[in-house]
Amino acid sequence: PLMMEGRDPNQKLAVTWTPIGTDVNFGEITRQFVGHLKTQDKFTLQLSSEVQDITRNKDGSWHVEYKNLKDGTESATDAKFLFIGAGGGALKLLQKSGIPEAKEYAGFPVGGSFLVTENPTIAMQHMAKAYGIASTGAPPMSVPHLDTRVLDGKRVILFGPFATFSTKFLKNGSYLDLLSTTTPHNVWPMTKVGIEQYPLVEYLAGQLMLSDDDRFEALRTYFPNAKKEDWKLWQAGQRVQIIKRDEEKGGVLKLGTEVVASQDRTIAGLLGASPGASTAAPIMLNVLETVFKEKVATPEWQAKIKEIVPSYGTKLNDSAAATQKEWNYTAEVLQLEKPPVIDQSVGTSTGVTLPVESKPENDMAL
Ligand SMILES: Cc1cc2nc3c(=O)[nH]c(=O)nc-3n(C[C@H](O)[C@H](O)[C@H](O)COP(=O)(O)OP(=O)(O)OC[C@H]3O[C@@H](n4cnc5c(N)ncnc54)[C@H](O)[C@@H]3O)c2cc1C
Repeated sequence: PLMMEGRDPNQKLAVTWTPIGTDVNFGEITRQFVGHLKTQDKFTLQLSSEVQDITRNKDGSWHVEYKNLKDGTESATDAKFLFIGAGGGALKLLQKSGIPEAKEYAGFPVGGSFLVTENPTIAMQHMAKAYGIASTGAPPMSVPHLDTRVLDGKRVILFGPFATFSTKFLKNGSYLDLLSTTTPHNVWPMTKVGIEQYPLVEYLAGQLMLSDDDRFEALRTYFPNAKKEDWKLWQAGQRVQIIKRDEEKGGVLKLGTEVVASQDRTIAGLLGASPGASTAAPIMLNVLETVFKEKVATPEWQAKIKEIVPSYGTKLNDSAAATQKEWNYTAEVLQLEKPPVIDQSVGTSTGVTLPVESKPENDMAL
């Protein structure tokens, strides 16, 4: 109703719709996973700790130094294998490790802000995630959307994103992040991308010049009866676009995620503008396949992975029957509404992501 009321009835709209969809609280899932891990003897959790340095020991293992930001104590841990999952902080840590693979990359930060309403009368009228089309030159994760979110039980509506600029790589990072990750190896690829990706530069400049009225007008194309007093602008997060050195072009802008691993596969890290919470599982399967290739191929690991991800190894996009089976299984386990029956005569147009082969290009939400 929010999207139709107040709209010119003669305006032509094209919409595709799916009845299934779920809002997932990834923070809660993380807390539950970690809660379980904490019951295991070989697990330690260090909160409020910032990794300061990563160096290599003589035996080839890694030495990780970190500082407790609350009491200032410094500690270190040695590890045979290291995974860097530090979001916008990952590039800096990969660079600290000194692996040559890290020299291939540079990062460019783009922030995102959203218009938000907490007005319950409005929020209760929209139970949907309505996505539009990204403007010319805009990165794919900047697709505008009018999105219901349930934050700790409270329903709010977000509209955005609008790109913002800061030199920070993390929302609470340092203004020196961009400068400190720029090295003699990556400065040229960055410059080349700046020259060649002119539509992106134009898009960013246009976004930065938007006034409150412009942002509100953009909202009204989705929600014609929106009233200014119900909405406030909210700085959501930072994403670090990656730029990779390229023999031919000098540098290329990568919009997806990259799992970067050392040649000896003792360290890996995840780089990418906004990998997406929902793509974490396929990305981690990808990490396992990259760094523990031989182990993943063993029957023991195959059986364990299939126990955790029953569709592992099945190409869902090619098979309506397999997709239907997965939908039914997921709905049953998560106690969701029964999924619709796929018309198998029409072929496959399910849009379901694949655990095995997926290479998430973007997270459409941000
Ligand atoms: C407003 C908003 C909406 C979003 N909506 C969606 C959505 O609907 N669906 C979806 O799939 N994704 C969504 N995303 C994207 C998703 O949140 C991210 O892609 C995802 O959280 C990335 O996970 P990550 O673990 O790689 O990095 P992060 O979640 O950024 O975690 C990295 C952590 O590492 C820490 N860190 C960094 N440097 C260090 C260091 N030196 N030492 C110790 N710790 C360090 C950081 O403090 C942070 O806690 C959204 C993001 C935002 C901001």
